[in-house]
Amino acid sequence: MLNVPVPSLTAPNELPTSPRPTAWATAGSWAIVLTGVLVPLLGAGAAAALAWRYGLLGWADVGLLAVMYVLTMLGVTVGFHRLFTHRSFEAVKPVQFVLGVLGSMTFQGPLLEWVGRHRIHHQHSDRAGDPHSPHAPRRRGFWGRFRAFWHAHIGWALPAETADLVRYAPDLRKSRMLRVVSALFPLWAALGLLIPAGVGYALGGWWGALTGFLWGGLARIALGHHATWSVNSVCHLWGTRPYHSGDESRNNPVVGVLAMGEGWHNNHHAFPTSARHGLRWWQIDFGYYLIRLLNAVGLAWNVKLPSEQGLENNERAARSAVTVGRTTSE
Ligand SMILES: [Zn+2]
Ligand SMILES: [Zn+2]
Repeated sequence: MLNVPVPSLTAPNELPTSPRPTAWATAGSWAIVLTGVLVPLLGAGAAAALAWRYGLLGWADVGLLAVMYVLTMLGVTVGFHRLFTHRSFEAVKPVQFVLGVLGSMTFQGPLLEWVGRHRIHHQHSDRAGDPHSPHAPRRRGFWGRFRAFWHAHIGWALPAETADLVRYAPDLRKSRMLRVVSALFPLWAALGLLIPAGVGYALGGWWGALTGFLWGGLARIALGHHATWSVNSVCHLWGTRPYHSGDESRNNPVVGVLAMGEGWHNNHHAFPTSARHGLRWWQIDFGYYLIRLLNAVGLAWNVKLPSEQGLENNERAARSAVTVGRTTSE
C-alpha cells in the first residue's frame, strides 16, 4: 500500500525536470503569487475591518463564507485529491465536472497542474524532488526551521515552477472534459468571486454584493489557501504518526477538521489510495462522508479502503520502526 499508483512516465526515482526559470517566468510567478495569494489575504483584512468599523457583517455573509468554503474545499479534497490524483473511487461525469469546477474556485491552480504536483509530492515525499517538503533540504536553528516551514507552506511557489507538472497526469489528459475544466481555470476562479457577490446583491443590494464578494469570495479563498497549505507544512511537522509511511507525514486533528479530512495526513501517506483519510470513527473526515453519500445514491462506486489486515500489518511495522529508532538513538 505504500506505493502510489502514479501513472508516471518517469523512472521511480527520477527527479522532476526543473530547468532554471527565465527572468520573465520569475516575474510572472511573482505576479501570480501576489494576485492569487496576497489579494485574498488583503480582502479578508478589508472584510474584517468593515465589520469591525461599520458593522458590515450579516448572517448572509457568514452563510456565504461557510457554504462557499465547505463546497469549494470539498472540490479540492474529494475531487482534486481523492478522485483525480489517487483514483480512490470512481464517479459519474457530472460529479467529476462539478468537483473539478468547485476545486478550481479555491484559487489553487488548474486541475492538471495540481494533480501533477501532488503526485510528485507522494513520489518523493520529504526527499529531494518533493516540491513542498519542510524536511528537504533539512535546516537547523530557529530561522532554518522557519524557512523550512515557509517553503512548505507557500515559498515553494517561488520562484517560477518549471517542472512539467501535466506530464504526471497522462490519465486525466485523456479526458476532454477534464482538459477543458483545467484550461478554463481562470473562468471558474472568477465565478468563485462573482457567485457570492451576486447572491449578496440579491439579498442586500450593492453593500450586500461588496460584503458577499469579500466574505464568500476573497476571505473564503484566503482561509482555504492556508488550510490546504497547512497539510503540506503543519502535517509534515506536527502531529502523530500511527502508521509507517516512509516519510514525515503526521495526523493533525485541527487541520483534519479545517481541511475537510485532509489533516489525517499520516493515514493518507500510509494508504494513499484510500478514499477514507480519517481511518478511526472519531477522526472527522467530511470528504469521506460526501463520498459515502455519493456512493449511497449511486453516483460513485469502487470506493477503495484499506483492509483490516493491511491496517494491522502497517501499525505493527510502525511500532517496530519506533522501537528500532529508540534503540539506535540510545
Ligand atoms: Zn504530504
Ligand atoms: Zn495525496
